[in-house]
Amino acid sequence: MSSSGMHAVVTLGAGPAGLSFSQHFNHQTDIYEKEASWGGRCRSHMIDGFIFDEGPHSSFTKDVYVKELFAESVEDRLNEIYPKILNRFGSDWVRHPVQTNLKGLPVDLVVSCILDFVKAERSGSGSLENYGQWLIDGFGEKFARTFPYAYTRKYWTVEPEQMTTNWIEQRIYRPDLEQVLKGALSSEINSNHYISTVRYPGRGGFQSFLRGLQEGTKAYYGYELVELDVQKKKITFKNGFERYYEALVSSMPLPVLVQSIKDCPTDIKQAAARLACTSVVLVNLGVARENLANCHWFYIYNEDILPCRVHFPSAYSADNSPPGTGSLQAEVYYSRYKPLGMSLEHVLEKTIQDLTAIGVISKEDQIILAQCQDVKHAQVLYHHQHTESRTAVLDYLEKHDVHCIGRYGEWAYLWSDQSIINGKRLAERLIKDKRITISSS
Ligand SMILES: Cc1cc2nc3c(=O)[nH]c(=O)nc-3n(C[C@H](O)[C@H](O)[C@H](O)COP(=O)(O)OP(=O)(O)OC[C@H]3O[C@@H](n4cnc5c(N)ncnc54)[C@H](O)[C@@H]3O)c2cc1C
Repeated sequence: MSSSGMHAVVTLGAGPAGLSFSQHFNHQTDIYEKEASWGGRCRSHMIDGFIFDEGPHSSFTKDVYVKELFAESVEDRLNEIYPKILNRFGSDWVRHPVQTNLKGLPVDLVVSCILDFVKAERSGSGSLENYGQWLIDGFGEKFARTFPYAYTRKYWTVEPEQMTTNWIEQRIYRPDLEQVLKGALSSEINSNHYISTVRYPGRGGFQSFLRGLQEGTKAYYGYELVELDVQKKKITFKNGFERYYEALVSSMPLPVLVQSIKDCPTDIKQAAARLACTSVVLVNLGVARENLANCHWFYIYNEDILPCRVHFPSAYSADNSPPGTGSLQAEVYYSRYKPLGMSLEHVLEKTIQDLTAIGVISKEDQIILAQCQDVKHAQVLYHHQHTESRTAVLDYLEKHDVHCIGRYGEWAYLWSDQSIINGKRLAERLIKDKRITISSS
């Protein structure tokens, strides 16, 4: 391949957003991907006969196009799952969502939660000042401080007051008083929350849903961008390869892209440095027991227990674990605000200890696979400088014909379907834009 401008539009990253952009741009773009294969954060890894996704993934998209794309990719061989979700609080197992399933929890706690819920309803909810205030206004002080506050510290690694509410949309279910009371007085299952069913491929892990997007792409693997010269419109990769572009489409993490810019203005560098995210250590376990899972996933509020959430991949698809076995994936989050403070070996050891202590794994269980994956970019953190910093960086890049797409490209809390849609939208916009030359190799 020559190092001159063979293609007008060059794409960075072969995850959902980059693949989607390529497909909707009629594949008139070369994709350069740092890793050895496609899929991005939606990749699935086969390890000793077990399949683990890069963090728990399932599809709950309502978008018809993405639904069809995923179904076609797996030739309709998918599992439609009505997830059973649990919560671990103290030494109790509580159905999800906790607020409409309070029965069985200590009476004083239940009464305080209900009293504060009524107070919050009366005072009129909806404060958007910060996430902490939003939680208290919406759920009442006692419930907010006991459950989502604790979970936020484990999942988001910050105090709720440090976050805005811009990312929430429908991600958190807010019940009414009738539902709260019913859940406190009866044992009937109250499983209202924002996800009712999820979809998962019958075979091959979550990555199989992207097969339809991957077909026909011109992707080059093992190409890690290390320098971006926005004046010369030139990119350089770690392996020494260089090329010029007319427009650059980036789905790689925004702060990392900015770090690579030659002679980047100081204010843009500073804005990019303020952007924050969480990282996650995924603890993947394979156990020689078929009935390992009694739910699809559960949340853990206890702050002395390392993981905040545990999924059972073997409950999503029988293809995810060999016959006679079960698998689980636990998530341990950290960030610049809450460093991990221990080695990966220690994370693995403590997670196994913690899950044994709460009875998820028994002492008799034979653990046949135990490994960790450290994922540096997990959740984009919506702190109070997020919007302003992100806008400054994206505006600067747009002015230099660098278009950012996807969860880490746009630095936004996007699920796979939204990343795919944003890749598609950009392709449609650039096709309309007469300034861009669309050429083929
Ligand atoms: C723990 C976790 C759980 C999730 N669960 C779900 C879920 O249940 N359902 C759902 O729909 N979504 C889920 N998501 C979100 C989903 O993973 C993302 O929305 C999706 O992967 C974003 O796609 P993307 O293409 O924007 O980014 P990515 O998937 O990150 O793709 C970007 C690509 O750029 C490449 N790249 C990075 N740096 C460079 C470089 N320097 N040079 C070249 N290439 C580079 C990367 O290797 C990667 O392949 C989850 C995410 C996480 C972290």
